[in-house]
Amino acid sequence: MKKIIAVLIALGAVVWSSEGAAKLRVVTTTTDLKAIVEAVGKDRVEAASLVPGYQNPHSVEGKPSLILKLQKADLLVKVGLDLETWLPPLIDNARNPKIVQGAPGHLDASQGVEILEVPKGLVDRSLGDIHLYGNPHYWLDPLNGKQIAASVAEALKRLDPAGAAHYEAGRQAFVQRLEAAMKRWERLMAPFRGTKIITYHNSWPNLSRRFGLEVAGYVEPKPGIPPSPAHVRSLIRQMKEGRIRIILMEPYFSDKIPRQVARETGAEVVVLSPSVGGDPGTEGYLDLFDHHVTRLKAALERTGKEVRSQESKDE
Ligand SMILES: [Zn+2]
Repeated sequence: MKKIIAVLIALGAVVWSSEGAAKLRVVTTTTDLKAIVEAVGKDRVEAASLVPGYQNPHSVEGKPSLILKLQKADLLVKVGLDLETWLPPLIDNARNPKIVQGAPGHLDASQGVEILEVPKGLVDRSLGDIHLYGNPHYWLDPLNGKQIAASVAEALKRLDPAGAAHYEAGRQAFVQRLEAAMKRWERLMAPFRGTKIITYHNSWPNLSRRFGLEVAGYVEPKPGIPPSPAHVRSLIRQMKEGRIRIILMEPYFSDKIPRQVARETGAEVVVLSPSVGGDPGTEGYLDLFDHHVTRLKAALERTGKEVRSQESKDE
């Protein structure tokens, strides 16, 4: 028997939890979803992410290694809202009926989440916009993590009813830790309420709203559209007039234009990965926000002091 199990493990066919149950194989598109699946499922799940945390989740190359992961999955969890336009062909190629759209093993984590910037009326792809169904970066509001964890727990219970109590306990422990951390983050960010910032891509409306920052403009004129010289000039003008001193950007874009704009406006470029594992020390979902809050608070303190001393000179 031991020999058979060893062979099965070697083949990657079955992985066992410490409770002796076969682990559910969960594939997530992003590391944020993987972190939440692991927090809820603990050792009854074996989770893998298709996209590493340092990569832009909008643009992913459909490599055979990704198809291989999907072939073995019992559950697929995606961000949805068309963030993963690259995913449907991979699902087709994987030929795994468990995870196709509509199957019990296919979870769209945007379900039940309040999505920001949902367009009214018809969507128009011709404008090159990649946020066609609303802003897909909703995992960047830590409170949305609660809804994602609830959907994940539901899916895990559906596929592994024997583990229902285990998943429910995992979800509750995650929510408790999240709520405690939320109080800490809100306290740290409270002094900066109403501060205007610029972001490169429109990844941060959820995070900004939760912590009271105001996104006043973007380096990209539209999500997915690179900045034109005219757009850069108007951004510089806007930042000078509004004394906006923070440009928040994702690590997977070129920092050439943000650095140039920062030089001309006296702003600081803050590079933060929007996903778990993209920056060192951010292996869990809560670690991600610890990192964001620490880095943003430090930058807001530095630039805030400068703006205040400039204002007193002007008076
Ligand atoms: Zn986006």
